[in-house]
Amino acid sequence: MIVIGLTGGIASGKSTAAEQLRKNGAVIIDADRVGHRSYEPGTPGFEKVVNAFGHDTVGKDGLIDRRVLGGKVFGAPQELERLNAILWPEIRRLIREEIAQIREHDKDSVIVVEAAVLIEAGWQDLCDQVWVVTTTPESAIERLQSRNGLTREAALARINAQMTSKERAAYGQVVVDNSGPEDQLTQKMDRAWRSLQARLDLRRPKKPVVRKVAVKKAVAKKPVAKKPAAKKPAAKKPARR
Ligand code: ADP
Repeated sequence: MIVIGLTGGIASGKSTAAEQLRKNGAVIIDADRVGHRSYEPGTPGFEKVVNAFGHDTVGKDGLIDRRVLGGKVFGAPQELERLNAILWPEIRRLIREEIAQIREHDKDSVIVVEAAVLIEAGWQDLCDQVWVVTTTPESAIERLQSRNGLTREAALARINAQMTSKERAAYGQVVVDNSGPEDQLTQKMDRAWRSLQARLDLRRPKKPVVRKVAVKKAVAKKPVAKKPAAKKPAAKKPARR
């Protein structure tokens, strides 16, 4: 089993890259999805968020209202830090649990932990390798404008609030540039997958080659059916004279 941490800046193409790895056979752990689970009712995360940010974060349905919570931390770096300090350890624990569960089912699986904040949260130590998807700020802005309908300024503000591609790339054993067209990213991910598989093959203990040795089976002789003893010609009766 191998665990790959896949990260990259906003709209760098992480999810697109992860999807291609999934098609090749990887099992994806999406940290965003795990993040939502980390504050479900009944979890320690839920309790801690409510204690820290107030009961008004709980909606009528009993769930934490992400809009209300988001409103409390948006544009307030200290509050965001407080929220991260609560949720990141919870998410880390859940990711570890998922890795352990997947391992139990298949020891040979390739697990990809897709996380925008892999480095910032320090989750890279849960991974054997870090892969980083990078792109230029210009192409990230374009994608954010078309995917999220953000204005150029809003897109730029989000990009500037993060680590740069260069800073993130310094953590990667594999760095995939996704500033070209999408099908190029797909091809690059396929290539990275093949090279990973080749390295994994080298690591796997070789199975002993079992040669088939032709062994002559002792052919059990069929019991020869005893021929009925040929009847002796009846002794000629002495001719009566
Ligand atoms: P991330 O997960 O890093 O935020 P996504 O994989 O969701 O990024 O990609 C952001 C958007 O950009 C998506 O709509 C995706 O289809 C698109 N996209 C990804 N890679 C490319 C590319 N090379 N060229 C054009 N669009 C891309």
